[in-house]
Amino acid sequence: MIRNYDKLIFELSKEGRVGYSLPKNEFDGYCMCSGIPAGLKRETTPELPEVTEFDVVRHYTNLSNKNFGVDTGFYPLGSCTMKYNPRINEEMASHPLFTSLHPAMPSEAVQGALEVYYNLAESLAEISGLSAFTLNPYAGAHGELTGLMIMRQYHIQRGDLKRTKVIVPDSAHGTNPASAAVCGLEIVEVKSTANGTVDVEDLKPLLDDTIAGIMMTNPNTLGIFETEIPEISRLVHECGGLLYYDGANLNAVLGKCRPGDMGFDIMHINLHKTFSTPHGGGGPGDGPVGVRAGLEAYLPNPQVKKDSEGRFYLHTDDNSAGSVSNFLGNFGVIIRAYTYILTLGRENVKMVGPLAVLNANYVKESLKSEYYLPIEGVCKHEFVFDGLADKSTGVTTLDIAKRLLDYGYHAPTIYFPLLFHQSIMIEPTETESKETLDEFIAVMKKVAKEAIENPDVVKSAPHTTPVRRLDETTAARFPKTTYKQMKG
Ligand SMILES: *Cc1c(COP(=O)(O)O)cnc(C)c1O
Repeated sequence: MIRNYDKLIFELSKEGRVGYSLPKNEFDGYCMCSGIPAGLKRETTPELPEVTEFDVVRHYTNLSNKNFGVDTGFYPLGSCTMKYNPRINEEMASHPLFTSLHPAMPSEAVQGALEVYYNLAESLAEISGLSAFTLNPYAGAHGELTGLMIMRQYHIQRGDLKRTKVIVPDSAHGTNPASAAVCGLEIVEVKSTANGTVDVEDLKPLLDDTIAGIMMTNPNTLGIFETEIPEISRLVHECGGLLYYDGANLNAVLGKCRPGDMGFDIMHINLHKTFSTPHGGGGPGDGPVGVRAGLEAYLPNPQVKKDSEGRFYLHTDDNSAGSVSNFLGNFGVIIRAYTYILTLGRENVKMVGPLAVLNANYVKESLKSEYYLPIEGVCKHEFVFDGLADKSTGVTTLDIAKRLLDYGYHAPTIYFPLLFHQSIMIEPTETESKETLDEFIAVMKKVAKEAIENPDVVKSAPHTTPVRRLDETTAARFPKTTYKQMKG
C-alpha cells in the first residue's frame, strides 16, 4: 500500500495549505520589496508544493530511511572498504574549534590545525615506510594524479625527457589509467598470470628508457598479494623508472608490511577507506601522497613544515610538481583519520589487516561450493567470485546482486574486475562480527539455491524495494531529476 507520505511532495500539495503562520504585516507599503524594480518583481507565485511542516518532515524522514548505509546494514562492496566509522571521529571533526577555522587564516592563528596535519603526515610516513607525505589531494584518484606529477617532475628535473609512458596492470582500478592519461602519460598494459598477479615475463620486454614508472596495487584488485614485487622493483629501477603504489587496499596489510620496504617510491592512501570516513555515494575523501627520501621537494605546494622551535609553517618549494588543491586537503577527513589512528593506538592498528584478511577468507571458503572461485588460495581483504558455480539456469551476477537487496543487504561490487565475465567482488572488512558474516553467508547460499530451484524469482528481483529493476543506462544518461521531468 502506498501511504500518503510515500508520495512525492508535489502530490501532497493542496492549494492554499501552508506550513507557517506569520503576524500581519504592519508595514504595508514599506516592505523590502518596495525597492525592487518593476521588471524584476515576481508577478506569479512560485510553483512550490503547498504542504504543512509535518508533511515535509515525514517526507524527508521517510526518504532518508530508504537510503542504505553502513549504519543500516552489511555493506560488502569490494574495493570500497565500507568499514564502521567510529562516532568519536565525527565528534572531533565537528568540534567548533575546528569547524570555525577559515582556510585563509594565517599559520600563526591555526597552529593546532597544522599540528594535526603534520602529525597525521608523520604517522602515515611511519605506517608506510616512506619519508614524507602531503595530505592536500582530495581523493585516491587525485592522489594518483599528484603521484604521477611527482614521478614526471623527478624525470624532468634529471633532464630525462623521454620517459612518457607508465605501465599499468590489466587488473588495475580504472582510475589508474585515467590518472595517467590526465597527467599526459601514455599507458602501457602489463598482463596478469593465471594466479592473478603481475606477469613478470610480460613486463620485461616493456621496460626501456621511455618508461616513467609502473603503477601497482598491493594486494591487487583481486585481493591477491603481489609476490613478485622485489623482482619487479629491481627491474623497473634498473631501467630508470619509479614504482607507484596504489594504497587503496592498504587495509589488508596495515601493520604487517610497508610499501616503502617493498621498494615503492611514491604512493597514495585513501584516508576515507583505510582510516574510516563515511564515504557512501562517493565522498568526502582525502588522498595523501607519500614519497621516499630524495623526492620530498616534489610534493605539491603548500607543504606543512615544523621549525626548530616547534612552530608550524607553510613552505612553498620551487622544485614542487605543482599545486593540486586550493588549501590543505579535506580537513574534516584528516581529523577523522588522525582520531582513528590515535584511538586505535599502535598495537590495534596492527590488528586491522589480519582481521580484515580473516573475515574475507572465512566468507570465501564458506561460499566456494555455491559460487565459482576462479583463483584458489588465501586472499587478502577481498576476493572475487565469477558468478554462480552452477550457471545452468542463466541466473547472472546482476540478478544475484538485485536479489540481495530483497534480503536487506547492499550488493557486492559486480562486473569488476574486468578479468572475469561475472565478477562478484566481496570485501567484508574487519569491523563485522562472525554472526553478521554467518547471516550473509546463509543468505548467499539461499540465493544460490533459489537460482537453481526458482530462477525466475531471482531474475525478476528486487521485489521489496521502493523502485524495481531500473534501466541503469537510461537512468545514468538521461536522469530525471525534477518532478516536472518525471511527469513529462
Ligand atoms: C577506490 C580506489 C581508487 C580510487 O580512489 P578514490 O578515493 O575513490 O578516488 C583507486 N584504486 C583502487 C584500487 C581503489 O579501490
